[in-house]
Amino acid sequence: MADSKDDSTYVPLLSERYSGIPESLLEKAQQAKAHALSVTTETQSTKQRSPVYPPGVERRVFDEAVNELRDQLGADHVTLNNQPLKDGWYMEHPNTHDMMYVLDQDELVPSAMVYPGSTEEVQQVVRWANKYHIPIFPISMGRNFGYGGAAPRVRGSVLVDLGRRMNKILDINPDDYTCLVEPGVSFFALYDEVKRRGYNHLWIDTPDVGGGSVIGNTVDRGVGYTPYGDHWAVHSGLEVVLPTAEVIRTGMGALPGNNTVLSTNPFLRMQWQAFPYGFGPYSDGIFSQSNYGIVTKMGMALMPNPGGFESFAYTFPKEEDLTQLIEIIRPLRISNILENAAQLRHVIQSIAVLGKPRSTYYKGEGAIPIDIIHKAVSETALGDHTWIYFGMSYGPPHIRKYKLDIIDAEFNKVPGAQRIDPTTLSPDEYFWARDKIASGTPDVQELRWVQWVPNGAHIAFSPVSPIRGADATRLIEMARRRHDEFGIDLLPAFIVGLREMHLIVEIVFDRTDGARRKAALDCLRAMIDDAAAYGYGEYRTHLVLMDQIAGTYNWNDGALMKFNEKLKDALDPNGILAPGRCGIWPRKYRGRGWEMTRESGESSQGNGVAAD
Ligand code: ADP
Repeated sequence: MADSKDDSTYVPLLSERYSGIPESLLEKAQQAKAHALSVTTETQSTKQRSPVYPPGVERRVFDEAVNELRDQLGADHVTLNNQPLKDGWYMEHPNTHDMMYVLDQDELVPSAMVYPGSTEEVQQVVRWANKYHIPIFPISMGRNFGYGGAAPRVRGSVLVDLGRRMNKILDINPDDYTCLVEPGVSFFALYDEVKRRGYNHLWIDTPDVGGGSVIGNTVDRGVGYTPYGDHWAVHSGLEVVLPTAEVIRTGMGALPGNNTVLSTNPFLRMQWQAFPYGFGPYSDGIFSQSNYGIVTKMGMALMPNPGGFESFAYTFPKEEDLTQLIEIIRPLRISNILENAAQLRHVIQSIAVLGKPRSTYYKGEGAIPIDIIHKAVSETALGDHTWIYFGMSYGPPHIRKYKLDIIDAEFNKVPGAQRIDPTTLSPDEYFWARDKIASGTPDVQELRWVQWVPNGAHIAFSPVSPIRGADATRLIEMARRRHDEFGIDLLPAFIVGLREMHLIVEIVFDRTDGARRKAALDCLRAMIDDAAAYGYGEYRTHLVLMDQIAGTYNWNDGALMKFNEKLKDALDPNGILAPGRCGIWPRKYRGRGWEMTRESGESSQGNGVAAD
């Protein structure tokens, strides 16, 4: 095992760093790093940068404020962002900027990073921000790749990096099947701890790659692939520092003495996570995809081990099969015969996830011709296909058989459908990565398609629609038109929830190439407008697209945003917490051109802030 940080095979382990990789995935992560480095042509920047300051704060005042915060938190826990920016890779990611930048690398950057060690210290930081009117931006792990990474929306904000010092698993309750975590707990860490304690009757749920934090992913409404994959739906109880520095606990946590694993009364210990709603308005919702609070603790339900599981995959030959297939999937999914948020992926994904750059197959300009993809996939164990469905059946064999027989009969109604025989697949086939993820075991294989182009970065377009064949076809055709227009390969997958599906289109671009960055952003903006014209909206997005997407949810003269702004001004009168996140701007920024759109010329910065 490598032990030097300069060694290209070095990957931080979970045992040495909260954001590290579990031992069990070390080899795979080392391969992923080697792979990422092999397609990185950019030499790391050594360019000296000018210091960045928060808007409306004079340099002298900022310096004074930073010194004051250093006195409060300790000098080591406040650092200025004045060094050359280093992109790193997934496991060694920066908190100084968005490693997958679609604007200039130096555009969405904080002025400084602070590392509170407790809820009380988070409160101190918030009081400090209010005193100096400095915008702050909280992150948990900062691996929100494709959505902005660790970057703040307002240049010069102070990044509150919660994960570095607040990363304890406070509780795993093996009787109630719940846990309580701090911001820096990753899916890797939670999984490892459940295993270490020998709780084989508990499962966690994990997204495609397990390095993100449980809290960051959940508050941004990320998903995983077991039946507990809707993370927000299965969270239970929050501790939140408000923008004016008070702390609240939601749900049963608001009962005194009832809300801490440190309680000496074992009956009281159990209640916070057992019931998510408590009494009165259910306030948790306003703390997801918003800028109304900093989450310092979160509870979560864990899934019981279902007593067996079995992955399956089916391939379908033609593009046009999509319509019939989606119609077949809808009733099966709603009735829970298809039990997890399964994936229907396009053939180009079957090739991209092998991890070879597109230049292996095609060196021409524009989108890669589909016959080249079909030829390449014919030579793989999956055989030629256009769509591939990955699913999992849960429970003991006789229960699985009941469901799998129905699925088989239904999927075989599509002419040419083929069930993949897993015994024919080698251990590094992508099928086995999906098998792990859908059974709650974190993995890293999904990183491979990011190397589709050199210096690969990605941004997702993710509209929500009903589970209808006509909607799926309309969305794909629209996305394909726009991808062809901008010369981008279309990498689509449908993730089928319960009564809706997300189309996830990942645009992979060379982040060092300004023209490709612009093409990616123009394509995304065009697709968002096209989708809105059809009545589709996105479920989650990147920092640079938040204003545009929030603007599409504008029924009744923008009534929802007016309500959001009213809440913002009431909760955050000085507008210090994550201004602009999810398109919500506080009063002092409004009407000053801070919204980032095509019309704004993609400028992330407005015309100052209102005087206090
Ligand atoms: P991940 O944990 O997946 O790496 P991040 O830490 O980058 O994700 O968080 C994703 C986004 O969610 C951040 O950009 C931030 O806006 C928001 N967020 C993350 N953690 C918190 C938190 N503890 N409180 C409030 N908002 C948060």
